[in-house]
Amino acid sequence: MLSRLFFALFFLFVTALCGYWLNGSQGFWIAGFGILLALLFNDYEKGYRLETWLRRGDPTADVNLTGFWGELVNRIRRGFKARDQIAAQHQQRLQEFLSAIQASPNGVLLLDDEGRIEWSNQTAALHLGLHEQRDVGQHVVNLVRDPAFTRYVAQQDFSAEVIIEGRSPSLSQMLKLQVQLHPYGENKKLLLTRDVTARAQADQMRRDFVANVSHEIRTPLTVLSGFVETLQSLPLSADERQTYLDLMAVQATRMQGLVSDLLTLSQLEGSPPPPATECVDLKSMMAQIKSDAMALSAMQGQSEKAVHALTFELPEHLSVCGARVEIHSAVSNLVNNAVRYTPAGGQIEARWTLGAEGQATFSVKDNGVGIAAEHLPRLSERFYRVDRSRSRESGGTGLGLAIAKHIVLRHGGSFQVQSVLGEGSCFSLDFPSNRVKLTPTPASSELLSA
Ligand code: ADP
Repeated sequence: MLSRLFFALFFLFVTALCGYWLNGSQGFWIAGFGILLALLFNDYEKGYRLETWLRRGDPTADVNLTGFWGELVNRIRRGFKARDQIAAQHQQRLQEFLSAIQASPNGVLLLDDEGRIEWSNQTAALHLGLHEQRDVGQHVVNLVRDPAFTRYVAQQDFSAEVIIEGRSPSLSQMLKLQVQLHPYGENKKLLLTRDVTARAQADQMRRDFVANVSHEIRTPLTVLSGFVETLQSLPLSADERQTYLDLMAVQATRMQGLVSDLLTLSQLEGSPPPPATECVDLKSMMAQIKSDAMALSAMQGQSEKAVHALTFELPEHLSVCGARVEIHSAVSNLVNNAVRYTPAGGQIEARWTLGAEGQATFSVKDNGVGIAAEHLPRLSERFYRVDRSRSRESGGTGLGLAIAKHIVLRHGGSFQVQSVLGEGSCFSLDFPSNRVKLTPTPASSELLSA
């Protein structure tokens, strides 16, 4: 820049000297002024081209300037390039940031100072039933019509979250959302939404479970304390006392059964799936279950002998690998149910079969009371009973099928039930092939018939 100025001044001086030499002092001023005008015009023309080029806003366009002006253009071009690179980097960072927010399992909604939607991620749009683009600029309270949310926004205290109902994709499923507003910037707000349906369901299940357990325990406890009061307050004969004590023993046994089933459930829930290393001797296990079932059948019919026709089958060499106590509990629950829900004289067939793909199935079929189709999907829920009084009379806790299902699932298998009201039921437990071993044992195909 300086050298250019010196060169211009030198050129001006030399031209003015030439003018002086040709025409004296008049020539000095005419030549000096003329060359000054020419230099100014030259710079003006180049400056005009530069300004037009800048105004066009395309740094790649050719301006055809050299020397000082060419250098200026090059520097401006480099400046533009650096600016574009920084802008591209910022744009990329912004895209990455937005992609990260999109990937969030929680919903994110940005609101302006008036509460209008500025941006939302897909999750928030799904949770609240919004359209990501179309609803931009809309007031959020006009779109989220839950009264709890309207109150929350109106009270202006966002220190805690609020639970609202979300827009569920299916009518059969309720979506529970935890929503909280977080102020930021100049009166703007960040709205976070979180799907807490599973947690709400778990809480509800826990409450139902506690209510059910309390109810189940309270009934025998009330009966027991009534008997205690009677024994304490009334002068009873020895026979009467014995009758009361027998009735008390029944209630105590019922409570013991309930507590024992609850403990079994909590142990099953708190322990890892059993390893497939221990193989269960099904032959001795089934013999034990059969003898217990026959005793139960006799007790049910208040006779000395079993009042049901019980058939047990077990293929030779079959063993199932897993926790013996658990498999015993699952199988005996199903067999005992068959006895309890089949009137005297009925038939009960319990059998183990080996499937074509190496899986083992235990099934127990009875021709008892059967179950109406509407109850079948809920049958293995805790405390779900089709006929409450029948279940209680026969010493049921309402937990037997829940335990059996839990056990077979822990062994990687599945639980099935088929039943027709008034005709009978068939419950089965399928154990996968990796839990099945064929060992050479001298078991007979038909264990016992009664
Ligand atoms: P419970 O202790 O009441 O028998 P379960 O969990 O074992 O509880 O069974 C749940 C319900 O399923 C029972 O209350 C009964 O109504 C029904 N149920 C189970 N097994 C049979 C069966 N073999 N025949 C008919 N109903 C059955």
